Amino acid sequence: MRLNGRGRALAGALLLTVLVAAATFAATTILGLRAELERLAGERAAAVRAEAAVRRAWQSEVEALRTELTTARRQRDEARARLARTRAQVRELAAEVRRLQTALAAAEARRKELAGQVAVLARDNRRLAERMVALRTARDEAARQLKGLRWRAERAEARAQALEAQQKRALAALETWLGRRREALARLFAETGLDPDAFDPAEAAGGRGGPWLPPRPGAADEGLEALLRWVVETEDLVRRLPVAMPLIRARLTSPFGNRRDPFGRGRGFHAGIDLADRRGTPVRAPAAGRVRFAGRRGAYGLMVELEHADGLITRFAHLGRIQVKPGQRVRRGDAIGRVGSSGRSTGPHLHYEVRVDGRPVDPFTFVEAGRDLLLPPG
Ligand SMILES: [Zn+2]
Repeated sequence: MRLNGRGRALAGALLLTVLVAAATFAATTILGLRAELERLAGERAAAVRAEAAVRRAWQSEVEALRTELTTARRQRDEARARLARTRAQVRELAAEVRRLQTALAAAEARRKELAGQVAVLARDNRRLAERMVALRTARDEAARQLKGLRWRAERAEARAQALEAQQKRALAALETWLGRRREALARLFAETGLDPDAFDPAEAAGGRGGPWLPPRPGAADEGLEALLRWVVETEDLVRRLPVAMPLIRARLTSPFGNRRDPFGRGRGFHAGIDLADRRGTPVRAPAAGRVRFAGRRGAYGLMVELEHADGLITRFAHLGRIQVKPGQRVRRGDAIGRVGSSGRSTGPHLHYEVRVDGRPVDPFTFVEAGRDLLLPPG
């Protein structure tokens, strides 16, 4: 546009010049006109050159602007890239922060857990310390008790030795006592004619059989057990023998054997003993047995006859009253009747007989044997 305006102005100037030249043409020569045309052509070339310069300047300016734009775009892209990187970094940082927060929370939880464990350990430690103290106390106590036990063990040992010696002495005494009992028993058998076999406890129990004799004291093959067994068996035997008196506090008025007859009929054999006591005093069974007879029999008056172990019979005569019936079983000490004066009697007394196989034996033989047999050891 500027070029067109400038062109018009140049053309106007050219027209004016032409008009002036035409007016003067007459006055001037053709040569002058040519010179003017050359000058105008020179001016036109200068104008074209100026236009080119302007064009070049504009193009350079455009080029510079383009370069600036390119630079700006590059910078913008760079900035965008930086921004993107920065955003990515921010995201990474945020993620890192979250990770760190998670880790921190975990660490806190772990810390709390550890703190709890520490507390537990501390409590355990306290308990362990208490337990240690208790254990030490228990150990000391155990040591003390052990000492006491050792002392007691030593004392027990000494006591055991003393007891052993005492036992030996007791055994020796027992053997002596047993010997006396054995002698008493042998004497009883000899004096009464009783058959030892009949009193064999083993045979009575349907056992071994064979002659029953107590073990000989001091024999090599006998122990304390054998001695004790013999004692028990002897007790059993004694229970079956009339070793007790039928009257406890009676007075012996007539012994066993030959004597002068109380009714004045010269000397006669007294098959029993007479025991004077008050009328009505209970007469007691001297051993366990069975009532063989209970009633009146001639000179004996009211009489009770007991049957004991094999062939052994006891008689109780001149009773005032009978308290048992034939066939009845009695134990030692049972009242079988009362003292009286029935039959051939001079006053209240008991005529007491012991018979072995029908043969009269002095009742005191049994009483004395019983006394020896029942003698306590010592
Ligand atoms: Zn008599």
